[in-house]
Amino acid sequence: MKAVCWHGANDVRVETVPDPKIINPRDAIIKITSTAICGSDLHLYDGFIPTMEKGDILGHEFMGEVVELGSEVKNVKIGDRVVVPFTISCGNCFFCNRDLWSLCDNSNPNAWMAEKMMGHSPSGLFGYSHLFGGYAGGQAEYARVPFADVGLFKIPDGLTDDQVLFLTDIFPTGYMAAENCQIEPGDTVAVWGCGPVGQFAIKSAYLLGAQRVIAIDRIPERLQMAKEQSNAEIINYEEVDPGEALKEMTGGRGPDACLDAVGMEAHGTGLDAFYDKAKQAVRLETDRPTALRQVMVACRKGGRVSLAGVYGGFLDKIPMGAAFNKGLSFKMGQTHVHRYLKPLLEHIQNGKIDPSFVITHKMNLEDTPKGYEIFKHKKDNCIKVVLKP
Ligand code: NAD
Ligand code: ZN
Repeated sequence: MKAVCWHGANDVRVETVPDPKIINPRDAIIKITSTAICGSDLHLYDGFIPTMEKGDILGHEFMGEVVELGSEVKNVKIGDRVVVPFTISCGNCFFCNRDLWSLCDNSNPNAWMAEKMMGHSPSGLFGYSHLFGGYAGGQAEYARVPFADVGLFKIPDGLTDDQVLFLTDIFPTGYMAAENCQIEPGDTVAVWGCGPVGQFAIKSAYLLGAQRVIAIDRIPERLQMAKEQSNAEIINYEEVDPGEALKEMTGGRGPDACLDAVGMEAHGTGLDAFYDKAKQAVRLETDRPTALRQVMVACRKGGRVSLAGVYGGFLDKIPMGAAFNKGLSFKMGQTHVHRYLKPLLEHIQNGKIDPSFVITHKMNLEDTPKGYEIFKHKKDNCIKVVLKP
């Protein structure tokens, strides 16, 4: 089959690789009909995650049709149309039983390695390096899905791929980030980053009852999308200081909740990643985690900080004094996608949201390297690239 393989920083290639096989009776094989490039893939593309190996298959936002099943799979049938949450969960462990699906204890065969390197063991993720289980990703014609009974979510007829594909990641991610803002009636929520995740965080903040959402970015098309699609107020941080602007817009008090949908974005952070052999740890260091700092400084006293943007390793110069003295609460983490599939599908079915609004580009799998380039550099008004294998 054809698949998108990682070969180093800024180097992805479409290659012919062996088809995936059932290796466990709980597996399924999916023929992929739609898949997407995510901001999280850019951390791999930028070379920030040192546990990638040449030839690893990328991609964690994918859906398709079930074509093969292991002998113990009960909840899905050959021919079912399914979306696949990007986090891999067993459905049975301490964490899955507490609805904390992205913290599953049984889905990462390399958990021991992560435990040794970082002192904690993340769950498995599709297409996200050996630290997260070394699973082949879904920017490919086929993929193997483990724990298929809980890792596949059936899609009813009548909805297009474009409407449901983002249930795999960015819609639940934006939604959980907004939920983590613990929005109360009348609240103002500020969202840093108007990429795909930011767009869904903005929409979700309104769905959850925010009175005002203020969106911050520097890319005019992305700010425009936040304004047109969700009615957000906007701040271009290259034109005005976002901290000052937010103060002015909130009567000097600051937003009730601040949401970081940026993460370790290369722009303006000076991020450097390396494997520290002496400490046996993956270290990520930056002297300017700009968005994260601004979020903490701008938030009102007693406010809530929600981090959807991905951070890893160690960050320097975090304004902890401000966070402590203002009594801020923090919530963050990989999204518990499984928790949100059913309620968010209902929002799509009853017309509250059509997630396809973020798609600006559709490409064949062969053109994926170009997709990564334009998505990374925000060229050609690119906001979200969907690939059709
Ligand atoms: P993206 O790269 O398209 O969007 C990031 C946006 O942030 C860009 O529009 C960029 O211009 C903007 N930005 C950069 N610096 C900024 C600053 N200082 N202030 C305000 N805006 C700034 O990526 P995306 O797909 O929207 O993903 C965003 C983040 O969410 C990434 O870190 C990604 O890894 C993360 N993510 C997290 C989860 C999760 O489970 N928590 C899931 C998916 C994605
Ligand atoms: Zn993603």
